[in-house]
Amino acid sequence: MKKKLLNSRHKPLSRDDLRFKIFLGSVALHSALGTCDRLRTACGIINNKRLRGFGYNGSVSGLEHCDEVGHLLDNNHCIRTRHGEVNAITNTDRKDIQGGQAIVIATPCLDCAKDLAQEGIRRIDYVGKYDNSLGKDHLSMLAKQKNIELHSHDIDWADFFQELFDLLTRKGGILANAGYRLNVKKEPLKKEVL
Ligand SMILES: [Zn+2]
Ligand SMILES: [Zn+2]
Repeated sequence: MKKKLLNSRHKPLSRDDLRFKIFLGSVALHSALGTCDRLRTACGIINNKRLRGFGYNGSVSGLEHCDEVGHLLDNNHCIRTRHGEVNAITNTDRKDIQGGQAIVIATPCLDCAKDLAQEGIRRIDYVGKYDNSLGKDHLSMLAKQKNIELHSHDIDWADFFQELFDLLTRKGGILANAGYRLNVKKEPLKKEVL
């Protein structure tokens, strides 16, 4: 039986579950680098228990970002950015993508799913929904045709980050060493941010 990691407030996590959560948390934080405020997203590529590469959505290097000059809209889709998945593919060694797993923040568009499929990704985990994702209704068909495991996750981010912060209070953790714990508090956002 696999050894379980214990923390006081949550169910014991297997090492595999812990790794997935840490990687997902890392990808979620990475999405803050996205430069299109219609959706800031990111993708991480995992292979052989390691997070091999990241990408977030942003303009082609050296070109202006949506955050600086506004969106470039075509049929209600912003087409200024390269998507997080495509940038993750660019940023990751090809051999590490082959047979790997992608973690995507929000619903991948069909073009990105096709690129991941073409590079040999075997599993896609996506977290949260993006209703304006182009071609999303065909995702499951593509996954089936290419024998890719497709998993959608609905996450309460307060619980999620609380669990991660609590892990850092275990003996030897950075918060344990700092001598305090962090409490995540959920507060609704004002309308103008949404
Ligand atoms: Zn944009
Ligand atoms: Zn995409």
